[in-house]
Amino acid sequence: MSIPFNKPFVAGKEKEYIASVIDSGMLSGEGPFSRFCCEWMERSYGFQKVMLTTSATVALEMAALLMNIKPGDEVIVPAYTFASTANAFALRGAEIIFADSGAGNPNVDPAAISALITSRTKAVVVVHYAGVACDMSTIKEITDKNNIYLVEDASQAVNAYYEDKPLGGFGHLSVFSFHSTKNLTCGEGGLLVINDEKLCARAEVIADKGTNRNAFLRGETDAYSWTDLGSSCTPSEITAAFLAAQLERAEEVHHKRLALWNGYYSMLAPFTGAGFALPEVPAYARHNAHTFYLVCGSREERNALIAWLRGKEVQAVFHYQALHSSPFYKDKYKGGILHHADKYTERLVRLPLYFDLSPAEMQQVSEAVLKFYVK
Ligand SMILES: *Cc1c(COP(=O)(O)O)cnc(C)c1O
Repeated sequence: MSIPFNKPFVAGKEKEYIASVIDSGMLSGEGPFSRFCCEWMERSYGFQKVMLTTSATVALEMAALLMNIKPGDEVIVPAYTFASTANAFALRGAEIIFADSGAGNPNVDPAAISALITSRTKAVVVVHYAGVACDMSTIKEITDKNNIYLVEDASQAVNAYYEDKPLGGFGHLSVFSFHSTKNLTCGEGGLLVINDEKLCARAEVIADKGTNRNAFLRGETDAYSWTDLGSSCTPSEITAAFLAAQLERAEEVHHKRLALWNGYYSMLAPFTGAGFALPEVPAYARHNAHTFYLVCGSREERNALIAWLRGKEVQAVFHYQALHSSPFYKDKYKGGILHHADKYTERLVRLPLYFDLSPAEMQQVSEAVLKFYVK
């Protein structure tokens, strides 16, 4: 029986909650399910203010508008990430400055960030790859010292921590994703976390097509007009209803994924001498088992492993092509070689990991990997 790479989690109450939205006749955003999701995130992780968005991509675009990113600004972004992390700032005309990953895991190397800061640096964006925290105390020290914005692309990092503090709580602005590939999902959806009080009022306007409709509804102004740049960032209540059902089972999802992740780790760890490396989780990180990956010895070996696993009916997949060498950016890129980002581009492979994966299937995948390496 073939094992897919991912199957989106289905909590069970999605249909019931969506039916209640249809019956209520109030389909647009900011209804009771939307409020439930926002309050759940604020309560669970101690965030001051969160807003549901139609995607993490859109939340990043809101962040770029909120920070007034403009041509001439530089934004430091990890090279090893998804296009949206950089695209949101490129859309505002910023120059994207790519930072390398560290040696131990795909997360950005704080020393690489330090070396790239100039008088034009407006923001640093970090990505918590696989839900494993970046070195936030070092990175925050750098952004505080230089008085620049810190943004967390925590798309993969719901319910993950740096020491005792939830990821998403460090940046002036942070984003989460509820895309169908993430631990918790509503198909397409995201969240903006605003940890800087000064940015809250504008965020509301930007999310609402650049209008002050919300202030008007609260009776704070007597007209409702176009007051700023903005877009349509708010998901419908149907989307929020789906997400609400998922959040109610978040802890269960977390523990089940962690058990599978730990299962992979303990099956494969005795054999790392055969040529592959396992994910490195620093002591300060409590991750959420978003991804289990291996780092192979070479690109050829990685591709051969993917083909081998396909032959065993296991779907394993590589991940990002580092953005500094992407078709869109490679001709604009002025920096040096990013050895570690290149290494993960060439050698990283992700194994199946989802709520419905059984422990027996996890073992089957592990054994297939071991048969490739240990002949
Ligand atoms: C999934 C992901 C995104 C995009 O999320 P959407 O909600 O699909 O826009 C952005 N950045 C990272 C690091 C991601 O993993």
